[in-house]
Order: sequence, then structure tokens, then C-alpha cells
Amino acid sequence: MSAKKMRKKAFVIDASAIFNGVLSHNLLGKKYLPQCVTYEIEGMYRGEALLEEIAVKKDVIITIPDKTAFTEVNNQANETGDIAELSECDMNVVAIAYELQLKNNLVEIITDDYDIQNLANHMGISYKGIYWKGITWVHEYTWICTGCRFKSKKQMDTCFECGSSMKKKVQRKKKRS
Ligand SMILES: [Zn+2]
Repeated sequence: MSAKKMRKKAFVIDASAIFNGVLSHNLLGKKYLPQCVTYEIEGMYRGEALLEEIAVKKDVIITIPDKTAFTEVNNQANETGDIAELSECDMNVVAIAYELQLKNNLVEIITDDYDIQNLANHMGISYKGIYWKGITWVHEYTWICTGCRFKSKKQMDTCFECGSSMKKKVQRKKKRS
């Protein structure tokens, strides 16, 4: 007999994934839905119908993260600066995934939210998007002076204020078309 244990596959689903049709996908494994996400779904177009669909699915578990996991996620989001873009519910999504991963599940967050993906990536948690059509990424470049912090939207090698070298920064912004 093999002593090898199979790691259980667990998906954590957010509101964007529900909205983009994840319920019709055939995900093999347990699906965890943060309780706060059900409130977000309530307010969506076809929200009631979606909640009914969830209620009849036996493999969808509605849950809340434990406090320790949430605090850890909150700290990490503070560190990366993602906290400004993340709602409390977004952090619930990541916290549940983090908790399941600690319990040795093979976790994947299903989300089309770039900010959640970014934090998951930082914390070493896998994620997958559902629907990319209609979302484009805009790269914005800023040149920042390493001396006086002067900012420019145009490429500059040296700062005309103080002569220090300029550093290029890239920002990715979500744009729905
Ligand atoms: Zn300068």
C-alpha cells in the first residue's frame, strides 16, 4: 500500500468568477465561497438566480476565514501596497485560500480580479482567471528621479531639476471596454 497521500484540490471563488460564469465550468474539487461573496452576488445582475444555482450545488462550501489567516493576508497586502485596491471581501478570498493551503490542500483561486491575483502571487497561492474578453491592460510608465523624486510621464534619463538619474516605473491598470 502506498503511503503517499493525495493532496485535495480546493478552489476559492470570488464574485468576478461567479459573474463570468465559473458555475458552468467543470472544476473537479471542492469549491469554497467566502460568505461575503454571497452578499456581493446578491447585488449583481441575476444575483438571486446565481445564489439559487449555488444553493443546489453540493460541492460549494460557503465559509469565512479564521482571524489568524485574515490578519496575515492583511499584513501582506499592507506590505505590497495592494491594500489600497483590495476590499475586505477580496482579502477574505485570499485568506480562505491561504488557510486551505496551510492545511495542505492544492489550492487555486478562481478570479478575474487583478488585485486579488497580484496578492495571491505575492503569497505563493495559485490563481486562474475565467474571462478575459473585454478587459485590457494598460501599462503606464512614470520616470521618477532617484534624487529629488521628481516625476515625469515622458522618458528622461537625468532629472532636469537636480541632475540625478531617473528610474522607470511600470504600472498596470485595468480597463474595461
Ligand atoms: Zn531630481
